[in-house]
Amino acid sequence: MTQTDDFERTPGGAVLMDGKRLRDEIVADLRAEIESLGNPTITLATVLVGSDKPSRIYVRNKRRKAEESGLVSRHVELDADCTQDDVESTVRVLVDDPTVHGILVQLPLPDGLDAERVLDLIPPEKDVDGLTERSMGRLVRGRPGLVPCTPLGVMRLLDRYGVPTSGKRAVVIGRSTLVGLPQVLLLGRKGVDATPTLAHSRTTDLAAQCREADIIVAAAGMAGLVTAEFVRPGAAVLDVGISRTESGIVGDVDFDGVEKVAGAITPMPGGTGPMTIGCLMQNTLLAARLQGVV
Ligand code: NAP
Repeated sequence: MTQTDDFERTPGGAVLMDGKRLRDEIVADLRAEIESLGNPTITLATVLVGSDKPSRIYVRNKRRKAEESGLVSRHVELDADCTQDDVESTVRVLVDDPTVHGILVQLPLPDGLDAERVLDLIPPEKDVDGLTERSMGRLVRGRPGLVPCTPLGVMRLLDRYGVPTSGKRAVVIGRSTLVGLPQVLLLGRKGVDATPTLAHSRTTDLAAQCREADIIVAAAGMAGLVTAEFVRPGAAVLDVGISRTESGIVGDVDFDGVEKVAGAITPMPGGTGPMTIGCLMQNTLLAARLQGVV
């Protein structure tokens, strides 16, 4: 990390990679950009199935930030006891509607519903979550497309806070298609040029692997997994994991221990979560571009 920045620091001296602040910058920039384009109507459609409380909160926040960004939010809700056909026909309507530019189906779907079949319906130009097979294929092949929002948010944080990536070693903990796998692809991309290791529950001596890393992205969903012993002095540590405990939301990173060793660290909450939403908004404008609307 450079020492000439004016970034906020933790008590132990690590740069605090503030996701809320960066998300707010992204929202403000998007608003200005959409205004400069003459305020075209760009619509993000959200689909919420069932009454899962965290999902409801996520969707509400996404809709709120869409409006703040100058996008139009359209929302469809279905009951938890709806059928696979109900969800699929809802998504088909949005796919066929030329006034809808981005489609987000909030996951997970209630038990008994097949998310893969629903995602398969979304064309890559409207896939603002970047989770469909075709979007993933584009990412692997390095073609222009929409990239999953959470790993993209991690990349934006690294960039904004001046964390060097070229030639650096990274460890990503977790190998889901939602976070870990695309994260590795993004870190290893030409131009980013990190050398990522993909760790998972069968990785032996995870702490030793992490100690080799200049960048650690923790996306396991295991509270406090990454302790100070995992971190080499000066490394950047980005916490994606979310565990809900009686004392509130807890990340995969033991913040109080790690901030004393790390060169840069994300807070939890307030780090990667807000960035996921900021990147969703950016993806929606990009989706409109891919459809030739702006
Ligand atoms: P997931 O599909 O359950 O994947 C978890 C991954 O972590 C798996 O690959 C698993 O390994 C690995 N893992 C679990 N325990 C481990 C351990 N002790 N050591 C090493 N690896 C371990 O979860 P996900 O959808 O990727 O989400 C990961 C976490 O991020 C969750 O807490 C989720 O809530 C959170 N999340 C946060 C955001 C955000 O915006 N901040 C967005 C999305 C998700 P195996 O493959 O071997 O089982």
